Amino acid sequence: MMASIIDGKIIAADLRDRVAQEVARVQRDHALTPGLAVVLVGQDPASEVYVRSKAKQTRAAGMASFEHTLPADVAENELLALVAKLNHDPAVHGILVQLPLPKSIDTQKVIAAIDPAKDVDGLNPFNAGRLASGFNALTPCTPLGCIILTKTVHASLEGMNAIVIGRSNIVGKPMLHLLLRENCTVTIAHSRSRDLPQLCRQADLVYAAVGRPEMVRGDWIKPGAAVIDVGINRIPGPDGKNRLVGDVAYDEALQVAGAITPVPGGVGQMTVACLLVNTVRAACAIKGLPAPAV
Ligand code: NAP
Repeated sequence: MMASIIDGKIIAADLRDRVAQEVARVQRDHALTPGLAVVLVGQDPASEVYVRSKAKQTRAAGMASFEHTLPADVAENELLALVAKLNHDPAVHGILVQLPLPKSIDTQKVIAAIDPAKDVDGLNPFNAGRLASGFNALTPCTPLGCIILTKTVHASLEGMNAIVIGRSNIVGKPMLHLLLRENCTVTIAHSRSRDLPQLCRQADLVYAAVGRPEMVRGDWIKPGAAVIDVGINRIPGPDGKNRLVGDVAYDEALQVAGAITPVPGGVGQMTVACLLVNTVRAACAIKGLPAPAV
């Protein structure tokens, strides 16, 4: 039987609607307009697309969007000064510095400079440490989205075997902690893992966050498993134009898996929606309001 397709577009649109409702509620009841500041350094075309889409969706949800564009050769101190200014700006509840940053800038230093209460990317060591310790924390958006997608397939993930392929701070590691919180048994694999296909075949839930086009093959998938493909890779298509593919060989996996996310139209959609979730959560926490219903 073919896998069912997990439609990230629909699930993300529903989440954005629920964010917009919560934004309208806090505006009405508490005169609070959540605000998100996005900082883009340089002119990386993919980053420009992401930043534009984040700003558009932030405004569409009724929140304030503040966009800051700095030249690629900006001094690290200047970027740190902007972060400090945003940390102190009462209209800003979320700060996102679009990565990757130019090589001349110390990324860790910039991330560490963001007020943890406004760290909607969840990358500040304070939030990463809290998540790893099982406390409430602002959590990276992509793994948050992956959990929501998985739960459209399985209401409870308890006791399931999950594999996360990739151990980055932005996807793999927070994914591990969120899955532990769901009471999964988690394997985290990376470039030095031995016999990845065999590890993968044990998994009821597969999260591929590698950055290698179609690396995970159909015969790596346990029949019926849920496959969440985080990868976004541009490869030349038959017509000479670039096309997007994930880290999973989709057509093969479709024949074996129980459910699968497409690329595009899967995880990518959820990442921005979860950024809006984090912003409204951050705004409520900063204002001392109860957590929003989203
Ligand atoms: P990253 O920082 O480059 O990390 C890649 C991870 O994959 C590393 O842990 C690496 O292992 C592991 N890896 C590399 N080659 C491998 C192999 N042959 N076998 C097993 N593991 C291997 O990437 P990332 O930022 O986590 O992103 C991963 C992918 O997700 C990319 O395609 C990216 O574009 C995409 N992404 C999508 C979204 C979204 O919204 N959908 C968001 C973020 C990222 P080592 O640690 O050993 O080097």
